[in-house]
Amino acid sequence: MPDIVPSLAAVVGTDHVLTDGLDAYAVDWRRKFRGRPLAVVRPASVAEVAGCIRTCRDHRVSVVPQGGNTGLAAGATPDMSGRQIVLSLSRMNRVRSIDRTSMTIEVEAGCPLAVAQQHADEVGRIIPLRLASEGTAQIGGLVATNAGGINVLRYGSTRHFTLGVEAVLADGTIVDALRHLRKDNAGYDWKQLLVGSEGTLGIVTAAVLRLMPMPRYTVTALLSVPGPADAVKILEALQTELGEAISAFEFMSSGSVDLVRRHRGHDVPIALARWYLLVELTSNISGLAADTQEALAAVLDSGLAIDCVLASSRQQASELWNIRESITESEQLAGGSIKHDVSVPTASLPAFLDQAVAAVEKSFPSAICSLFGHLGDGNIHFNVVAPEPAEPINRIVHDLIVYHGGSISAEHGIGAYRVDELVRCKPAAELDLMSRIKRSFDPYDILNPGKVIAASDPETGRPGRL
Ligand SMILES: Cc1cc2nc3c(=O)[nH]c(=O)nc-3n(C[C@H](O)[C@H](O)[C@H](O)COP(=O)(O)OP(=O)(O)OC[C@H]3O[C@@H](n4cnc5c(N)ncnc54)[C@H](O)[C@@H]3O)c2cc1C
Repeated sequence: MPDIVPSLAAVVGTDHVLTDGLDAYAVDWRRKFRGRPLAVVRPASVAEVAGCIRTCRDHRVSVVPQGGNTGLAAGATPDMSGRQIVLSLSRMNRVRSIDRTSMTIEVEAGCPLAVAQQHADEVGRIIPLRLASEGTAQIGGLVATNAGGINVLRYGSTRHFTLGVEAVLADGTIVDALRHLRKDNAGYDWKQLLVGSEGTLGIVTAAVLRLMPMPRYTVTALLSVPGPADAVKILEALQTELGEAISAFEFMSSGSVDLVRRHRGHDVPIALARWYLLVELTSNISGLAADTQEALAAVLDSGLAIDCVLASSRQQASELWNIRESITESEQLAGGSIKHDVSVPTASLPAFLDQAVAAVEKSFPSAICSLFGHLGDGNIHFNVVAPEPAEPINRIVHDLIVYHGGSISAEHGIGAYRVDELVRCKPAAELDLMSRIKRSFDPYDILNPGKVIAASDPETGRPGRL
């Protein structure tokens, strides 16, 4: 193989082809996987990204795109072959434009979500995407994983507010579809294939996102509840009474909350219970606080909830959110967890949780089930703090997910982590269709091979275990 490094340096400059000290790019956020990148390349423009991709294609070297590296499926981690380039988008980090009237923002792939949010904030708008990694996760990574977060119930996931995309394809073609349109039925909506493709179909270099009005009124409530069935009934009742004002409906087990109390020292200002709900309501119409209090009083009277506290200030609301947002890091501090990011129809959640917890506890009595997530979307992070190996636990959880008509990845993606389980759990006709799409976008398997879809060589794309 001719040395690709000088050719890449000719495209981006010598300073932006790194070959030493690559650990931060080679290890995933959970510190479970590591790879051996040949080099890390840091282009500063879409033309440079295209130049890098053409160079890699000519050398038959594959490319692992990387944003903030906060992904939880090892999608941005190179394999152990020493023949993959990490393409970091971090230098492409500009907010190119913001339009308060059309309610759109055009942002480069490497811009952290929190920075883009700040720009939206300055014109009284929001990007309708909130997640605990927003300080580091980048627009390109969020689009490439179709990130969800806590406001999907109200606004949908990233694909629902991605209006336009600029991307570089596997042959180096630049496709500029940065349209700021709400409605566009002129042909196939191909950009939706890139959303959630985890770097396997194209490199996202910029996106146009739809903005929403900044809510004037916010109510945040923490409830303790007897069980998941009560939680689902509360969701139904609040949806009937308060409709789309419910912007987040989060669920936490005592297993998750105890980890936060132990490892982050956060207190829980409510009667301790086995299950908790964190509910946020937002509106631009006054009367939200009174309507919410009335609806929550009815929930307490009916016995669906044990206790309820309402945040009386922004500070208190952010303390309540801190509990929820510290769970992932607390699991990490507890030595890591075996993660399942699953979804089922909301009505099936109680039965799924009962069966899955009972089955895991029976087979692994010392395991701690840390269950939390976006109950309003039927999405639970069914995490198990237990010694490896993960495979038997994965099988228990995913088999029940298939039984209940659910998905083995609600929002985190497949990456390298869930490729085998996807093959096991997804119908063959769908897997075949995915392979045909991949071949048509990337016939030489240059873009993140072995992620999402198994490569022909079973070792390709597999990072090593840390
Ligand atoms: C504490 C914490 C909380 C989280 N909470 C949530 C949550 O609530 N909801 C949720 O959905 N996720 C959540 N995540 C996961 C993660 O933040 C998201 O998956 C995020 O979208 C990843 O963005 P990133 O820039 O870090 O991407 P990376 O981790 O760098 O990459 C993720 C994938 O996208 C690909 N990729 C990255 N950039 C590009 C690009 N420009 N073009 C093409 N492909 C690209 C990579 O190859 C990889 O496959 C959480 C993570 C952490 C650490």
